[in-house]
Amino acid sequence: MTSREMLERLIAFDTTSCYSNLELIDWVRDYLDGYGITSALIHDVTKNKANLHAVIGPAEEPGIVLSGHTDVVPVEGQEWNSDPFKLHVHDGLWYGRGTSDMKGFIAVALSLVPSFVERPLSAPIHLALSYDEELGCLGAHSLVEHVVDSAVMPKMCIVGEPTGMKPITGHKGICDYECTVHGKEMHSSLAPYAVNAVEAAAELITFVRSIARRMETEGSFNTAYDPPFTTLQTGVVKGGTAINIVPNHCNFCFEIRNIPEVNAQDVIEEIRQYAFKQIEPRMKDIDPKSGIKFEIAAEAPAFSTPDNDPVVDLVLSLTGANETSQVSFATEAGVFNRAGMPTVVCGPGHIAQAHKPDEFVAEDQIVKCEHFLTQLVDRTCRVA
Ligand SMILES: [Zn+2]
Repeated sequence: MTSREMLERLIAFDTTSCYSNLELIDWVRDYLDGYGITSALIHDVTKNKANLHAVIGPAEEPGIVLSGHTDVVPVEGQEWNSDPFKLHVHDGLWYGRGTSDMKGFIAVALSLVPSFVERPLSAPIHLALSYDEELGCLGAHSLVEHVVDSAVMPKMCIVGEPTGMKPITGHKGICDYECTVHGKEMHSSLAPYAVNAVEAAAELITFVRSIARRMETEGSFNTAYDPPFTTLQTGVVKGGTAINIVPNHCNFCFEIRNIPEVNAQDVIEEIRQYAFKQIEPRMKDIDPKSGIKFEIAAEAPAFSTPDNDPVVDLVLSLTGANETSQVSFATEAGVFNRAGMPTVVCGPGHIAQAHKPDEFVAEDQIVKCEHFLTQLVDRTCRVA
């Protein structure tokens, strides 16, 4: 099957993140099965979604992971000039939801499976396909855990997000938190005897803002990124029902987008300590049942792979690029990198063409990716 035929097949599965990806995953599993390759499926709690992990070649050796997410962003509210779930080819551009982000890379990798199988690989190729990347890298965590637990630790990972086939060696991380404040409701004339959840939340939101301001003025700084520092912001606040009722509930969501030099865990710990030491004791003095809870909603760790790492060397020489760069969007790379697999992001298409109506990948990007993966396998073969 050519890359184009494969992409046509993959695009036809509507794997918008809000739906199941199982039809696509089952189809890929059957396809790999046809070449004698066994796949492990790692389901989510609903059993409606699954990651897929398959190893081609000598599993006892440290291998190379080719990673891609199977979900796509919604088409609702977008004006498309062709059916987003039917590959439409015009003037060397291949249109369809996910062509760039990122079924293009997956299609090329899968279409090359027959040649992977035929060759005397000296290191195995791991195919790692995830679910719910677009919702905040939700599937990647259990996928990476499975790779680490079930196989010899791979020596490197290539994430095929659209980078115009240029090697990307770092991006910011994203940590999304949901904070719930439980107070004590009462008639507003008796406010001092109640616990105002909205006001407690506001104090905490102000503290989050103060950290954002500090990051902006004091750093750390990394000029590879725009803005060149860690940012924080509160995006959603919900609480209160009436002006004359002291609200007993408030819920807000904030995010940390950290440069690789800043540990997001340190930042969240500072916020938690402020909540538990400065705000919560005063709430509990009035009502011991009141309090503040934090829950992580999504996490895509930052990553930074040094230029002297073998994976960077390899990707540079395979792409013919002479430099690496960093991007502002997050990927699953940080999850693989943190688990001990040095990672580079490199794939066909451009992020500017993703998440939009009439998403496309240019045919020459696909050709470059075919060349890249074919050469990768050539290099991985035993000398006869
Ligand atoms: Zn993507």
